[in-house]
Amino acid sequence: MGARTSYKTKHRDEILEILQENEREHMTAGQILDELKARGVSIGVATIYRQLDRLVEEGAVNKYMVDAVTGACYEFRDGHEEKSAYVHGKCEKCGKVVHIERKAVETAMQGFSGGGFELDCTRTLFYGICEDCRRTK
Ligand SMILES: [Zn+2]
Ligand SMILES: [Zn+2]
Repeated sequence: MGARTSYKTKHRDEILEILQENEREHMTAGQILDELKARGVSIGVATIYRQLDRLVEEGAVNKYMVDAVTGACYEFRDGHEEKSAYVHGKCEKCGKVVHIERKAVETAMQGFSGGGFELDCTRTLFYGICEDCRRTK
């Protein structure tokens, strides 16, 4: 208890604050580390993972496995309250993870259930080119 506890809580709050400020974004532990360093916070990556695990357990943060290159990314939950209303897509140009409206995907996927296989849209990652990259083409 005492000083040690509040020290730990501080890191937790700092991580949560960063995710909150980037609530529509998806951040990897590495990106969070960079952001903390830029703010003059000295923290190890192991501590970040530990705190992130706690935040996921508490339900404040969502965790997604993106792919082998990106690894896991984290997002602030409140910015994603309708979790079932969207699916995740990864831009192959800039690597950004974006939200795609689930309805649009399901419409496109109709007929895919052939062979008795039902696609779990909430766990599927789609690849493509994001709006920003398409615009700057
Ligand atoms: Zn992009
Ligand atoms: Zn997301």
